[in-house]
Amino acid sequence: MSDQGILAVVSGFSGAGKGTLMKALLEKHHNYALSISATTREPREGETDGREYFFVTKEAFEEMIQKGQLIEHAQYVNNYYGTPRQYVFQQMADGRDVILEIEIQGALKIKERFPEALLIFVMPPSADELKRRLVGRGTETMEVIDKRMRRAGQEAAGITSYDYILINDALDQCVEEMHQLIQAQHKRVSQNLEFIQQMKSELTDR
Ligand code: 5GP
Repeated sequence: MSDQGILAVVSGFSGAGKGTLMKALLEKHHNYALSISATTREPREGETDGREYFFVTKEAFEEMIQKGQLIEHAQYVNNYYGTPRQYVFQQMADGRDVILEIEIQGALKIKERFPEALLIFVMPPSADELKRRLVGRGTETMEVIDKRMRRAGQEAAGITSYDYILINDALDQCVEEMHQLIQAQHKRVSQNLEFIQQMKSELTDR
């Protein structure tokens, strides 16, 4: 079977609980690598450069785009976000399943460039619950929360381009469902063409 890791994209409305979900997934299962994005947004309290994000200036970000160092990038609520290329391919080549926790425009670009990528959209149980979580987080002003709610409304239109949706209601259950979806991807025919080819030639060479 193929030793190459899976490229999984996880998106969800801001406040859907993706961060908590990713943390729980990585604590529980050990073959995952979470890509660290570059962004021009300011660090939130408690965030560290190189851990949650690489926090860079607009000029540095534009230079990364020009040099082809990002496999996708997008603008989200007045800031740039992008996925550094090298880490992703290195981890996949080492056999780890790489997760990109990115928004929808970036996710669709990934699907275009890497059709074998697995796209998962995480939803809260309801819009009211989404707002409760955003307010409860206490890191954004009401103005930004309203912007993020409006953005969620726009993003809902793109969900049908994803492969799967997961409802993040009970955390542990959602973690296991995500793990199973990604692991099932290893069994796809498209992920195992080399093995299939080898089996074919072994059979015909007999
Ligand atoms: P936040 O500012 O809340 O950390 O992130 C805002 C949005 O940007 C989230 O939906 C997050 O998934 C997305 N995001 C984070 N990194 C990237 C990236 O590298 N590329 C894209 N396209 N979106 C990203």
